[in-house]
Amino acid sequence: MQRSEILIWLWETNPARLADLWQQADQTRQRYVGGEVHLRGLVELSNYCVRLCGYCGLRAGNQGLQRYRMSDDEIMACAGKAVQFGYGTVVLQSGEDPELTCDRIAGLVRRIKAETPLAVTLSLGERDDDELAAWRAAGADRYLLRFETSNRTLYERIHPPRADQCSPHTPCAETGQCSPHTLCAETGTRSVPATIRPATIRPATIRPATIRLAILGTLRRLGYEVGSGVMIGIPGQTYDDLADDIELFGRLGLDMIGVGPYLRHPNTPLADRDLWPEAAGGRQVPASELMTYKVIALARLVCPRANIPATTALATLNAHDGRELGLVRGANVVMPNLTPPRYRALYEIYPDKACVAETGETCQQCLSERIAAMGRKPGRGRGDSPNYGVRVVSRDSDVEIAGG
Ligand code: SAM
Ligand code: SF4
Repeated sequence: MQRSEILIWLWETNPARLADLWQQADQTRQRYVGGEVHLRGLVELSNYCVRLCGYCGLRAGNQGLQRYRMSDDEIMACAGKAVQFGYGTVVLQSGEDPELTCDRIAGLVRRIKAETPLAVTLSLGERDDDELAAWRAAGADRYLLRFETSNRTLYERIHPPRADQCSPHTPCAETGQCSPHTLCAETGTRSVPATIRPATIRPATIRPATIRLAILGTLRRLGYEVGSGVMIGIPGQTYDDLADDIELFGRLGLDMIGVGPYLRHPNTPLADRDLWPEAAGGRQVPASELMTYKVIALARLVCPRANIPATTALATLNAHDGRELGLVRGANVVMPNLTPPRYRALYEIYPDKACVAETGETCQQCLSERIAAMGRKPGRGRGDSPNYGVRVVSRDSDVEIAGG
């Protein structure tokens, strides 16, 4: 699909014409990934995070948040529930938490693989190449890391570099240098205190906006199923930016694509509308339900074999039938939450997140009933992405994506 066509769809408001987009996406989904809805049990391991992402409630700067980190036994109990509920995959997600060490995650992955038939997806942020390699060797199957936006300037504003990733073009406003306790001239934020910095270091020569793309290349070379995605409606994100994002999904040949609306968290810098104005001249992408469906549908058309979830953020905007509409407009995955109820509300990326008051059991029952009511079936087995099989067979795993 040409970028110009993507852009036309993003601007489209006519319901009759949009019905055509929904139909194309639904037919493509049926043809390439079938009618099953794969269930991924989500475990939110830890809400500790060293990062200062301007949009996220887990950011290190949010001191009002009570922090937690689950024990291995608690995580294994969640994996046991995933098996009991018939899910094929467990997704281990967290803030960028240095206490989740390489060895600890490797041991956990090995335990899950030894004791269950589950596929393991990791979503632990920007981690060192050696760690990613060790987790893959331990048996991890997939890794999710959204590039958030392909607009590099916007990305670097909303996602300041880790202290050890600062490069000479992000000098401190106070000292003219870059060190862990100083005020970044570019982002206006203070870096993370050295005491909570991760031990692993990436070369400071890489521009922050390309680090995630470089990691996606590494994941691919290591043989992971690779997932990425964006938020929709970040203040300052234009229709052109979003069209670039969708085009990039295709160029990256993603196996999994996660997209969802940006939802304001009051204790984050992006919530300040004066500091973070919207794009001018009517070019700002709305963080709306409709725009989310469009991006899901277009993602399906540019990456027909990818696994695409109807996300929790979408269900947060429309608890009634947001997931169902996502599933008939290109999505084929849902992610029932397995995080123990006492931790759920603390994994507050944004307020009023869907399903925080539920248990693993009620989420499982609710989603199974919704899938059945749609005349679809829950997926059996691991639900690997057909895209992964195709690209591994066609040996395109060396595609160079590091520079974006
Ligand atoms: N720390 C890991 C990372 O950043 O990749 C994984 C956890 S992070 C909470 C998962 C995703 O949540 C991010 O990639 C981002 O797109 C999304 N997210 C964070 N804050 C959000 C917000 N305010 N609205 C919508 N999505 C948000
Ligand atoms: Fe941390 Fe991820 Fe939130 Fe950024 S998006 S603050 S890395 S949890």
